[in-house]
Amino acid sequence: MSDEQSHLFYQSRQPRPFLDHGEGVYLYDEQGKRYIDGSSGAMVSNIGHSNPRVLAKMKAQMDRATFGYRLHFRTRPSEDLAAKVASLMPEGLDRVFFVSGGSEAVETAMKLARQYAVTQGQGSRWKVISRLPSYHGATMGSLGVTGSPLFTGPFAPMFEEMPKIAAPTAYLDRDSLSDEERGLKYAEMLREKIEAEGPDTVLAFLMEPVGGASTGALVAPDSYYTRVAEICAEYGILLIYDEVMTGAGRTGKFLAAEHWGITPDIVAMSKGFGAGYAPLGAVVARGDMVEALLDAGGFLHGFTYAGNPLACAAGLAVLEEMEAHDIIGNAARMGDVLKSRLTGLMDRYPFIGDVRGKGLLLAFELVSDRDTMKVLPKEWNANVELVELAYERGLIIYSRRTRGGYEGDHFLVCPPLIITEPQIGEIMEILTDALDAFAANHDLPVIE
Ligand code: PMP
Repeated sequence: MSDEQSHLFYQSRQPRPFLDHGEGVYLYDEQGKRYIDGSSGAMVSNIGHSNPRVLAKMKAQMDRATFGYRLHFRTRPSEDLAAKVASLMPEGLDRVFFVSGGSEAVETAMKLARQYAVTQGQGSRWKVISRLPSYHGATMGSLGVTGSPLFTGPFAPMFEEMPKIAAPTAYLDRDSLSDEERGLKYAEMLREKIEAEGPDTVLAFLMEPVGGASTGALVAPDSYYTRVAEICAEYGILLIYDEVMTGAGRTGKFLAAEHWGITPDIVAMSKGFGAGYAPLGAVVARGDMVEALLDAGGFLHGFTYAGNPLACAAGLAVLEEMEAHDIIGNAARMGDVLKSRLTGLMDRYPFIGDVRGKGLLLAFELVSDRDTMKVLPKEWNANVELVELAYERGLIIYSRRTRGGYEGDHFLVCPPLIITEPQIGEIMEILTDALDAFAANHDLPVIE
């Protein structure tokens, strides 16, 4: 088959070179061109590519068994990984259910919440309030909570659209509130929504603690996190953190929830948890919730590949690697370095409106006017153009246009958590070159 033909189909027709191999923070195509992976793929490759110690542990498991169905056998890798995950979680979150990806994790979290409510005699509760914009997955159930018209649009009649509140896009606000007041203002929207929907019908509130692809590393004011948790507790509503992107160290702590001392009732993880070595995700829940389900006959849910020993061996090896090399500590340290370097770009490019994020989940946003945060003309397709300019130059970054309430061009710069300072220098050099080219294409000012 020629390289031009393909029987695969994905989102776009955009041709991409064939990947040859990866090493650390770099990827190489078949022509030998090197790319620095400035987005860890889709915020996945947290410990970098082709880690020999992880591969050796996977190989050892492959030589024993690559599959054992969970109704027929327990497996050491899944037990050991569950114990390791529980040890890394906030107190009380100690029961783990494995899945193969982020959408499955979100589906599982919602079904667990619902079945638990039913066992508690609270069958009237079924609505999962989420936020706009947000991204929670591509399956029908997760589309119902995803606040992104781009992804939900054509499928709208086929799933249950869940109630949404505005994501705390506080960086766009031009009011005189303090940060704390602004956080409380957004949290109050949750209370209003619960009241409007009827508290007895609301099952859970689902949020990305730091936004991902939909909002570009959106961080709320600190007061938001605490007040949201208080409101959920007050109304007996389960708090679900979607840590599919933020979990497993991406923000400089194992869970982003730790930054605010929050213990959600349920956490969904994937992406950096398998770190690209295996399709893997996990849902972690409060022990008493799981016990209630088991007492009532068990969780009516499961996927064939869930908890398979090869994926779990990979996940365990990834977590061991993180611990052995203080990779999460590195994410926190290098996150500070990268964030200040990105913030520094604002002096050179007046069209960078905002730099935000936590740890190595960082983003910048391009605008026509920094003071008003007026977006760039839509027809420029800046989110595509800048990514291509960087790609040509050997840097991979990730972008989507924010949709749902606000349409801005944000760019995620989220390298593997093993990144070093000189490698951050490489990212910045290529990014500056790409931004210069972008400015030249559109006659935008550059301050030398
Ligand atoms: N939740 C969040 C926060 C995500 O970022 C993603 C993926 N971008 C998902 C869920 C869905 O994960 P997956 O693509 O692995 O199904």
